[in-house]
Amino acid sequence: MSLPWLRENWRHLVNEHSSGKLSHAHCIPWFPDLGAETFIREWLKLLLCTQPKQRACGRCKSCLLQLAGNHPDYYEVASHDGKGIGVDQIRELTEKLQQTPNQAGAKVVWLRDAERMSVTAANALLKTLEEPTQATYFVVSPERTERLLPTLRSRMQLHRFQIPTTDAVEQWLAQRLKRVLTAEEQQLTQRYHHRPLALLSWFEAGQLPTDHLQQLSAVILGQLSWPKLDKGNWQAWLLATEQLLGELIRLQQGLGQEHLQLVDDSQPLRLWLTEKNFNVTELNHWLKSCYGVRKASAEQSGLNGPLLLQELWMRLH
Ligand SMILES: [Zn+2]
Repeated sequence: MSLPWLRENWRHLVNEHSSGKLSHAHCIPWFPDLGAETFIREWLKLLLCTQPKQRACGRCKSCLLQLAGNHPDYYEVASHDGKGIGVDQIRELTEKLQQTPNQAGAKVVWLRDAERMSVTAANALLKTLEEPTQATYFVVSPERTERLLPTLRSRMQLHRFQIPTTDAVEQWLAQRLKRVLTAEEQQLTQRYHHRPLALLSWFEAGQLPTDHLQQLSAVILGQLSWPKLDKGNWQAWLLATEQLLGELIRLQQGLGQEHLQLVDDSQPLRLWLTEKNFNVTELNHWLKSCYGVRKASAEQSGLNGPLLLQELWMRLH
């Protein structure tokens, strides 16, 4: 496994696989910026390989078929064009699985966008998981595990990825980029260490993202004017608002520098809090309002997100 923070997960799976104790259904959350795709693809290869060791051999017939992209015992189910995964897709899959494997090895299914399954589709999958065909492995990857039916979740082994520390990510980035990070890059790494692959692509392209949190902090301190919200940017600002409220709560609780994201602004932000007389309960209440807006926007497509965030911001003015 090339990504150091996923090695523990990898070792665990390889051990279970080689000792014959591997469950047949696995749920791996879809965190692309943490390397979920690399992890899943490596693992699918390992499951299909007929002579695996710590990883797929890359030489057996099964590996070669997989490399060529036409392994007859590999199935991928996903949502298409933003539509949900329907029951027909699951039924078709189940029928194919009933047939015996063409190669000597296992049958492997990758179910992507799993939270987009309709309830009927999820129930059909549940039935398949309850009566699995022999030597069949399922890898199910939802964006959020908690969006799956509880009955479905209980049928799978749930995996979690550890978020790497800032130090570990800095080290990895320096290795990959073959240079030391600039001060600005170090700051971004501290803030986005949960998204190492995003950091790598930003730094490789030399395009650093807009630091919404830093800007929002400057706004409430009166150094910048309030940004104009629109459909394209409001979600980034919502995230920054949540982060800022989290930071203000930590400041109000008197937490030390090692817990803070806006170290340089911490003193002026403390003064601002005193001046505004905001307490932790209020800040927490607004943070919950942010989560409410986020949840509502995921569930209702016609929601006016920019307006709702604007209203939240009015309380911070
Ligand atoms: Zn192989």
